[in-house]
Parts: sequence; structure tokens; C-alpha cells
Amino acid sequence: MIQYANYINGEWQSSNSGKTYQSINPASINEVVGEVEYSLAEELDTAASYAKQARTDWEKLTGAARGQYLYKTADILESRLEEIAEIMTKEMGKTLPEAKGETARGVAILRYYAGEGLREEGDVIPSTDADALMLTKRAPIGVVGVITPWNFPVAIPIWKIAPALIYGNTVVFKPALEASVTAAKVIECFNEAGLPNGVVNMVNGEGEVIGQQIVDNPQINGITFTGSDKTGKIVGQGALNRGAKYQLEMGGKNPVIVTKDADIDLAVDATISGGLRSTGQKCTATSRVIIEESIYPTFTEKLLKKVKEITVGNGLHPDTWMGPSVSEKQLNTVLDYIEIGKNEGATLIHGGNRLMDNGLDQGFFVEPTIFENVTTDMRIAQEEIFGPVLALMKVKDLEEALTIANDVDFGLSASIFTTNIQKMLTFIDDMEAGMVRINAESAGVELQAPFGGMKKSSSHSREQGQAAKEFYTNIKTVFIKG
Ligand code: NAD
Repeated sequence: MIQYANYINGEWQSSNSGKTYQSINPASINEVVGEVEYSLAEELDTAASYAKQARTDWEKLTGAARGQYLYKTADILESRLEEIAEIMTKEMGKTLPEAKGETARGVAILRYYAGEGLREEGDVIPSTDADALMLTKRAPIGVVGVITPWNFPVAIPIWKIAPALIYGNTVVFKPALEASVTAAKVIECFNEAGLPNGVVNMVNGEGEVIGQQIVDNPQINGITFTGSDKTGKIVGQGALNRGAKYQLEMGGKNPVIVTKDADIDLAVDATISGGLRSTGQKCTATSRVIIEESIYPTFTEKLLKKVKEITVGNGLHPDTWMGPSVSEKQLNTVLDYIEIGKNEGATLIHGGNRLMDNGLDQGFFVEPTIFENVTTDMRIAQEEIFGPVLALMKVKDLEEALTIANDVDFGLSASIFTTNIQKMLTFIDDMEAGMVRINAESAGVELQAPFGGMKKSSSHSREQGQAAKEFYTNIKTVFIKG
């Protein structure tokens, strides 16, 4: 079995903890994909001090020179796409085509930010002094701590590390343990690209130890976090306490609204894709389906017919459409929510069980699950489940649909299916979500556009595209008197 060490100051270094974590295949739980170490807090501190030392030289390079390292990393990742995607599928369960798509996305993000090294970084602002020139320029924030979840183990680390680097920051990265082998592969690509020592560092371990040390370490100037809202709150409060810059991207309870004039087949396909692909383990996954009553029977019948055709299994098999939950813990959370839904009085119309036949007992598989008669006061209508569970809600019109859609603490992504332009415009204006999508599934992002949520889904900052600049740099206002 391969053991992956920490990556500190350009070297793979073993931890002194003497404790290891085995990353297992959630589709085949006796298979260990690889092993990483539970590191000690002082090892994170060491990584942070190397990142701090590397800062000045890295910052002094031109954006174009930093971009060359990202282009090189992109080429290496691209050449290893098949291998890394396969590891991802084995480690966290998403199907191989999805894993390949995500890895290709990682390559594209690296190239996008490589090009960013040559784009504008400030504005000239008219001064009231006729003899002065006033302008803004961007300064890196310094050492950036990167804390990521397991559900997009290539794309999320890259969409944080690439902008951090291009804008002149150095990085200390802590991936989620459940995806730590895939993360190590990504770091191998940065290593092979020959980045100067200390510019990117990775330390594995528990969130409460290594993640918390990133939050608390005074050598780390900014923290970018993606994960649950529960952990996000800890990260944000800790960062605020010591004056570090922070950015949080968290959960969702994303609705799709289907109006009576919608293309129903399109809406059904998008609901299934948005809600059940990746086993519902996307922050942008559809979890509530709000349908106008006149089309409710037709929509539901078509939805059920297609959901029944879904093949669940090992994501490496070409005929698998949906893989397992990432872990036993996640599987149990999903099964608990299914029980909660039943006890709350929702009607289970499909699925609801762990799958145990045909060898599936060797993994954490759960049926695609659909509830109807769900009301907004129910926990399954309010809380993020992070599993393949859809809650159907019947409404009389768009106004009621929007009231229900907005009646949650989260506001990440939302979509509507309609052919009526007025309804599209109302939805764009009235839906409280960072990403509003018309006739497209709730999951799905483009790397060149801002990504992030409203309400409890985010710290109200945005990632990706040009928006990333706001977090990874500080604005300096320059006044030059002639
Ligand atoms: P999580 O909050 O359990 O863990 C996220 C990361 O935080 C992990 O690396 C973990 O080790 C670390 N962590 C845990 N405790 C910590 C602490 N005290 N201090 C610092 N770090 C700590 O989330 P998860 O289960 O890995 O991921 C699923 C969640 O991520 C879902 O809620 C999902 O919606 C969210 N997510 C959000 C987005 C987005 O961009 N909005 C994208 C993907 C996933």
C-alpha cells in the first residue's frame, strides 16, 4: 500500500505522530486506496514558516513568471488525468466520467489563472489634485491556508491554490482526510512542475488539529475554507479573532422550481442530474423540487420512471450512473435523514434503503430516494442532507414557489424551469441565491464566473473567475504627487 507523506518546503516529509489514516474505497470497503499520516500541529507550524520564508521571492516574480509554473502544473495534471481520476473514483466514489470531468476542470482552472498573471491589476482614479496620479494596485495577502472538503478533491483545491499563487501568495494546504490520496496526487503535479521550495505545502490530519492550527497560526495571513456551515463558523470566528482574512464557502439546500409552462422532460432530466449525480454530494446539488400543482402528476410520473432506471454501483464500472456515499458516516447521515423524513410525515415514494444485494453490501450504497408531501417546516426541507434524496413540494403558483424556495437558511444555487420570460425575470430578482439558473440544473459552474452563496452558504465572498482576486489580494491605493 502506498503511503503519502506531507509535502513541506519542496520535500515529502513523514510526520512524527506515528499515527496513520487509511483511505478506503467506499465502493469496496476492504480496499485501502492509500495511507496518509495524522500530523502534529507543530508540523503545520513548520510548513507555515517555510511558506512565510518563500513569500518574498515568490511575490517578487512577475505574474507571467508565476503563470509559467501554473501552465506547467496544468500540463502535468493533464498528462496524468486518467490515473488521477481513477484514484478519485476509488477514494471518494464518484463515477469515473465525473472524476475525469473534474480533473479536466482542474487543468482548465490552472490555465485560466496562469493567464491571469498578465491581466490588469488595478485602476487609475482621477485625483482632485492636478499634480497627482492616483491608482490602485494589488498586493498578495501573504501565506494562505487552504482547507478543503472531500467532494471535489481536485477542483476545489486547485480553484483555491491556483489563484492564491498567481496573485503572489504562498500556500499551506490541508485536504479532507477522505480525499487525501487524491490531494497528494495534485500536489505531486505542483512538485513535478518545479515550484520553488515552500511555495506550496501540504499537511494532512484531522480538522480539529491541523485545520484548527491553520485557523490559529499567526504566520498564516488568510484562510480559504470550503466545507460544512458548522465547521465554517469555527473557521470564520477563529480568523476574525486574530484579524486574518477569511473566505468561507459552505452548504446548500438548493431548490428547483418547475412551472406549469416548463419543458417537463428537460426539468426531469435536470432534476435527476442536479440532485443525484455524485450521489447528491455536491454543495450545489438539487434537494428540493417545487412543482406547480397542474403539472405535478405528469412531472412526478416521468421523474419516477427515470429514477427507477438509475444504476447504482462502483463508479469504475462503465454501466454505473451513481456511486456510493463517501463514508459510513455520510451513509448513516443519509439513512438518518430518510428516517427523519418518514417520521415527520413526508411520503416516501421511491428508495429509502441501503443497497445490500449483488455485492453492494461491500460499499456504502443507498438508493436514490424521493419524498413527496414535504412541507417547509420539516428538517428534510431545511437541512443539508448531502445524499441522493429529493423532497417534492407542490405549489399553486410561482409566488408560493419562491416563498418556499427562499424559506431556508441557505442560499447557494437555485434553478427554475419555465418558458415564460416574465417568470424568469421574477426568479432572477426574487430568488435569494448566489447562483440563479434558468432551464439548467442547480449544480454546474463555470470556472470563469464568480461562485458563491448568499445567507448561510457563504461568507458573502466569491471564488473563481476574476472574483477570486478580491480574496487573494489586498488593494493598495497609491497617491503620487509630481
Ligand atoms: P467539513 O466541514 O466536515 O470539513 C471540511 C474541511 O474542514 C475538512 O478538511 C476538515 O478536516 C476541516 N475541518 C474540520 N474541523 C475543522 C476545524 N475545527 N478547523 C478547521 N478545519 C476543520 O465538510 P465535508 O464533510 O468535508 O464537506 C461537505 C460539506 O462541504 C457540505 O456541507 C458541502 O455543502 C460543503 N461544500 C461546499 C462547497 C461550496 O463551494 N459552497 C463546495 C463543496 C462542498
